[in-house]
Amino acid sequence: MPEPIENLRYSNQQDRLIIKAKVVNSFRKYEQKTGDNEAGGILLGNVYKNHTEITTITTPGRLDKFGKLFFIRSKKGAQPRINRAWKKSYGTLIYLGEWHTHSEANLTPSSEDKIMIKKGLEETIMEIDFLYLIIVGQNETYWVGKQTKEGLIELKSQDSSAWTTPLNPDIWPIYWAD
Ligand SMILES: [Zn+2]
Repeated sequence: MPEPIENLRYSNQQDRLIIKAKVVNSFRKYEQKTGDNEAGGILLGNVYKNHTEITTITTPGRLDKFGKLFFIRSKKGAQPRINRAWKKSYGTLIYLGEWHTHSEANLTPSSEDKIMIKKGLEETIMEIDFLYLIIVGQNETYWVGKQTKEGLIELKSQDSSAWTTPLNPDIWPIYWAD
């Protein structure tokens, strides 16, 4: 029997990221076994005053292109999902980045991955000035990074006892330009 899934926590000095259990569960289903194609999609969630939560992901769609060593998420396929989530949540559930699977044991973003997420941040019109990149490895291993203007920083897995500052339940005030 698989272990019950819990929320995952990732952090560096300034950032705290929670990946909700429901999302971890989906990641498990798409783990890439040797010989499988890569899978992936987008990350959706909420930005709070002192942390971020990834609450929903999209899974591969028919417009995506994928092979054993690449996953190219279709813009056309994802945009309606992003818009719908945003509307339904009154503007709180937003696009937070990208995820895809790797099958190698040494989990690290490829040079294409680094270009993709950097370009994503530069080219997407957004209210946030960062994006997350999650690479899903085999056997519940993950590489989690945050792309900002300064670059892509890896976040480290942490257990809840390491987080002494309580989570602030207030949504970050995001101002939307019409
Ligand atoms: Zn990759």
